[in-house]
Amino acid sequence: MPDEAPAVPVPRFRSVLDRIVGYRPSKAMPSLTGPTYQLAANESPYGPPAAVLEAIGREALRINRYPDNGCAGLIAEISARFGVPEDGVAVGCGSVGVAQMLMAAVAEPGSEVLYAWRSFEAYPILTRLSGATSVETPLRDGVHDLDAMAEAITDRTRLVFVCNPNNPTGTVVGEAELAAFLDRVPADCLVVLDEAYREYVRDPGSPDGLRIAAGRPNVVVLRTFSKAYGLAALRVGFMVGHPVVAGAIRKTYLPFSVNGIAQAAAIAAIGAEPELLARVDTTVGERERLRAALAARGWTVTPSQANFLWLPLGERAAAFGEHCGRAGVLVRAFAGDGVRVSVGSAAENDAFLTAAASFGP
Ligand SMILES: *Cc1c(COP(=O)(O)O)cnc(C)c1O
Repeated sequence: MPDEAPAVPVPRFRSVLDRIVGYRPSKAMPSLTGPTYQLAANESPYGPPAAVLEAIGREALRINRYPDNGCAGLIAEISARFGVPEDGVAVGCGSVGVAQMLMAAVAEPGSEVLYAWRSFEAYPILTRLSGATSVETPLRDGVHDLDAMAEAITDRTRLVFVCNPNNPTGTVVGEAELAAFLDRVPADCLVVLDEAYREYVRDPGSPDGLRIAAGRPNVVVLRTFSKAYGLAALRVGFMVGHPVVAGAIRKTYLPFSVNGIAQAAAIAAIGAEPELLARVDTTVGERERLRAALAARGWTVTPSQANFLWLPLGERAAAFGEHCGRAGVLVRAFAGDGVRVSVGSAAENDAFLTAAASFGP
């Protein structure tokens, strides 16, 4: 529906903005009196470890100074931690920020960006903003259809997203199929392996993007500090790839957009990794408990390698989302398709199971 005609003259906006829905904050239901459980955004349910809080406190004393625009300290830590050269790493304002940097480097009007659908909601938005055309290949049983994606590549395709595990279905692609797909992608087309949930993967058949991207200059891996590392509010993500790509991407960085507190916290989070990864193990345990409990009660749940579960409810998705919301459990419903529920603490997951039981599979 077109917006109401403004009463005063306004600037001429890019036509693409008409096709982007403005952000609407989700409001807690006014009728709710009890606690609310936030299981809608795939966040870590845990607050920061002591070492991360201390780093944030120290850095807070310096906020009158600009942060390091090159993020050198953080890049050095990422390089050491993952065994990759520093010049193959680029940092950005969340991995969504890095995705936008990648777009700014390769996408333009007349070019195409390819991804599976349904997948991460940021892909269509970033594609539209870039002026490029979205090409969406339907998932097959909730999984990337890599053959169909390879066939959808044209000489206009500049960028392909492979979200592994896929948000919102939690499914993964296998190593051999991914390698075969990458072999079919032209060398001048960038492939972005979005591994926001890599730390939660336990399926040994699912590839480590860093390994599969090594030796393939047109493949980059996106990782984030927002999920397993628990820094969603601070906005830090990074890519690992060929130095030529990382160098190009760095040119598109919005200056100073990874702030000093975020850089310091991310460095401390790498230092606190044993503690953080132990929490990830707990979340993986909860994921399997939640899935088994739902399955035992007759729900269809897609096997997930991430920190969320997908319930392919089709036409009942919106009603189930509203039902959970009335019970104080905030989940993400995609009308006509399914509901994604994040794996939280044991108590939060129990609250979800209780809410689900009063709806029925
Ligand atoms: C959550 C998520 C991210 C992380 O985004 P940030 O900007 O790093 O917070 C990236 N990709 C996918 C698929 C996600 O679900």
